[in-house]
Order: sequence, then structure tokens, then C-alpha cells
Amino acid sequence: MNTNCPLCTTDGGELLWKNEEMRVIFAVEPDYPGFCRVIWNEHITEMSQLTVDQRTRLHHIIMLVEKAMIEVMRPDKVNLAALGNMVPHLHWHVIPRYQLDVCFPGSVWSEKLRPSNQEHLKTQQANAVLLRKKIQEILGVL
Ligand SMILES: [Zn+2]
Repeated sequence: MNTNCPLCTTDGGELLWKNEEMRVIFAVEPDYPGFCRVIWNEHITEMSQLTVDQRTRLHHIIMLVEKAMIEVMRPDKVNLAALGNMVPHLHWHVIPRYQLDVCFPGSVWSEKLRPSNQEHLKTQQANAVLLRKKIQEILGVL
């Protein structure tokens, strides 16, 4: 535990599930309700630093989150991304993408191409509540 690290001192978002190795959170991304991150709890920066078993378990959780997201939120596409340039915790972004969202078809970090569609956001906020429920159903409630 490093007291200067934001992901050691906080969950990094709304905690949905965790175990000793990793956690699943909702990111605070107002344009993207349901935006999940799967975060490795220890300071590991590269996938290749995990053991094969650890990698398999991480991949399994990412896939469960992706499947739940597809079922509940019906995105046009799921984006998986691991950048990790800002914090020393390996983490995967699992992002539901829609043709209506502000950056589609760019990445969520690209320049915005259109204003937020409030009706779409409202629907996705409601779907995100269902996604939280689904993830906790699958992985176990905190
Ligand atoms: Zn940390």
C-alpha cells in the first residue's frame, strides 16, 4: 500500500466487487454510464508481469464483465483497453460504446464529435443500475 497512490488509497470509483487480487468498479465518466474498470490491487504495470494463473483469472473477470455488459446494456461495441500510463496498477477499461456517444467511433479519450444525447444518457444510466446488479449477481455481492 502506497499512501501517495490514488488506487491504493481509494477504490478509484464505485466499487462493485473485489477479492484479494483485483476489483471491479464503475468509473466516474458522466458521458459513459456503465464504464467499468477491472483493477489489479497490487502494483503491477504490465500483463506479462502476472503469472499465467493470475492472467487467466484477470481475463476471466474481464470477460464476465464484458458479457454482463453486452447482455444488460446492449452496446453497439465493447471497447477493452489497458493503458495504465497514469497509475502503477494494471487495469482494464471495459467500455460500452454506442454510435450516439460523444466520441464514437473514436476512443472515449478522443476529441468529442457531438454533444451528449440526454435521452440516450438517461437510458444508459438506468441500464448501468441493472449492470451493477448483474455484475454483483455473477461475481457475488460485496
Ligand atoms: Zn497503488
